[in-house]
Amino acid sequence: MRKTIIEPFKIKVTEPLVLKSREEREEILKKADYNLFLVKSEDVTFDFLTDSGTTAMSANQWAAMMVADESYAGSRSFHRFKSKVTEITSYDHVIPTHQGRASERLLFGVLLRPGMKVPSNNHFDTTRANIEFLGAQAVDLVIPEGKIPDHEHPFKGNIDLSRLESFCREFKDKIPLGMLTITNNTGGGQPVSLENIREAARIYHKHGIPFILDACRFAENAWFIKTRENAHSNSSIKAIVSEIFSLADGCLMSAKKDGMVNIGGFIALKDSTWVQDLRNQLILTEGFPTYGGLAARDLEALAVGLDEAMDEDYLRYRIATSSYMGRRLNEMGIPTVRPAGGHAVYIDAEKFLPHIPKAQFPGQALAAELYLQDGVRTCEIGSVMFKEAASMELVRMAFPRRVYTQSHFDYILEGFQDIKERSRELRGFRIKEAPPFLRHFTVKFERF
Ligand SMILES: *Cc1c(COP(=O)(O)O)cnc(C)c1O
Repeated sequence: MRKTIIEPFKIKVTEPLVLKSREEREEILKKADYNLFLVKSEDVTFDFLTDSGTTAMSANQWAAMMVADESYAGSRSFHRFKSKVTEITSYDHVIPTHQGRASERLLFGVLLRPGMKVPSNNHFDTTRANIEFLGAQAVDLVIPEGKIPDHEHPFKGNIDLSRLESFCREFKDKIPLGMLTITNNTGGGQPVSLENIREAARIYHKHGIPFILDACRFAENAWFIKTRENAHSNSSIKAIVSEIFSLADGCLMSAKKDGMVNIGGFIALKDSTWVQDLRNQLILTEGFPTYGGLAARDLEALAVGLDEAMDEDYLRYRIATSSYMGRRLNEMGIPTVRPAGGHAVYIDAEKFLPHIPKAQFPGQALAAELYLQDGVRTCEIGSVMFKEAASMELVRMAFPRRVYTQSHFDYILEGFQDIKERSRELRGFRIKEAPPFLRHFTVKFERF
């Protein structure tokens, strides 16, 4: 095994990296009241806020965009996109949307009524919000190991099958659909095994419940199945992906993840039962069924991107990147959620900065320091975001696809070493001003 991770692409278009001094960043961060969401991206060197919509597209994707057919109805680009989705998922009914949460709103709007329940391993926050907005309940049934940050388990995204079975038995009349999120974003980008997907499908179907995947990171999940689930080590990614989709009745997709595009999403379904209602809703708020809130060029880029996401050289590099970052941090004595997720590494700031009490936001302290040190923008996922409901104080580094190189990572790791050596000097924060909802986006801090 070679030690150096090689990016399986060469670079044709470049964008300069912003390099500022620590003093300049001190000034910028203070002006933003220490909230990284309020820092302009032109002042950020390495942007790890999210992997969503931040992908670098390939020459083939840009080329496909140039030949897009922007006709209002019946566009050739729609048919190319639709055939690609059907080829990968085997689902015949494909509804384009502008992004994942639009797919959620449409499907749940058609299926959910107050008092209903939707089980999953973990619902992503927009998924949960769209379910709760309709008066229904989003129920998380991830395995217990999935909630313990340093518990090593190859498939921490698995759903707890015995709890799922009893939940379905008790509430089946109130469950219009059951879900699984692959990979489990809320649980740290952790994968679900093929065996777990198969068993969850069996339980849902036994109780007559349609099974819908939240498939945002289906390709990364398939790579974990290939490399961690013995029975599938000789299968191709395409074969694993087809098997995953064949077990479910449909999927919701944010193409801003494994669609390898900057905007886009879709709903794909095996059966036509809900399709007419969905299309009627789609026309009201998204657009005509052959573009659904996107330009035809977006559909073209997505059709190419879905194949590129399943390329095995790409996936090997992609997953090596996050596991390399996780491993090097752990070797340095910086605790993370283990194992590393597919798209992100989550640092356990509470453990790393034990001298900063939860009430002074250890995650925020680390996120601010990472910005000051090297211009790295991360996201606090702890008491700033969830208030008293936070069970962990994490800092998420989510990696945009095909954007940064191994030397960028090594440079950032040097910065981490520096922070580690003076970690006792880091100070917490107090909140100066905060809105009542989703406060992390606009909260203002001051230093202790
Ligand atoms: C990003 C994401 C969504 C929502 O998608 P958007 O495109 O951001 O609206 C839903 N589920 C999961 C698992 C996600 O990661």
